[in-house]
Amino acid sequence: TSFGHFGFDEQLMHQIRKSEYTQPTPIQCQGVPIALSGRDMIGIAKTGSGKTAAFIWPMLVHIMDQKELQTGEGPIAIIVCPTRELCQQIHAECKRFGKAYALRSVAVYGGGSMWEQAKALQEGAEIVVCTPGRLIDHVKKKATSLQRVTYLVFDEADRMFDMGFEYQVRSVASHVRPDRQTLLFSATFRKKIERLARDILVDPIRVVQ
Ligand code: AMP
Repeated sequence: TSFGHFGFDEQLMHQIRKSEYTQPTPIQCQGVPIALSGRDMIGIAKTGSGKTAAFIWPMLVHIMDQKELQTGEGPIAIIVCPTRELCQQIHAECKRFGKAYALRSVAVYGGGSMWEQAKALQEGAEIVVCTPGRLIDHVKKKATSLQRVTYLVFDEADRMFDMGFEYQVRSVASHVRPDRQTLLFSATFRKKIERLARDILVDPIRVVQ
């Protein structure tokens, strides 16, 4: 597979060319067409596999499709991950590739300023990259609404469970409308992750790095 097979438009292809990637990684070859099809997906992949782009590129296509259908406020896509560092990395990738369509991304994570984050959320963003507990805090304070979210990603789910975030992860899923697309990434596929997948995904396709 080459990048041309994904059917991305010229704006996104331009951003991908700028990154100087020569070819898609295996998780991208398998995962991107599934994510583009609208199906739920479980990706068993580690850091370094190129998994971030595998969920960001289809997310951008999804947002551009939804933007024409939906008015209103709040993000269209949410990416939930375990740590501040990962939030910042994913947020940087969203900005890099989101430039193709002038999409806005905001990162909200535990340890950062609630006030600054709330302000950024209220200014508006199509993409929110977050740690789960902090996102729930903002929703409870009405700094943002999840009513428009139709693309939901959980990255490094096993690490979130190891850090004791299972309740918060499930809480985020329960706050997002059921007719969403959900992608779940994890380095391992343990019983607890399998159970989570059964509870929050619909008829998912599993992809192994
Ligand atoms: P990730 O597994 O998403 O953390 O990505 C690991 C690193 O690989 C990041 O620095 C990406 O920028 C880079 N990367 C992602 N996709 C590709 C690709 N198709 N070719 C080369 N590098 C890539």
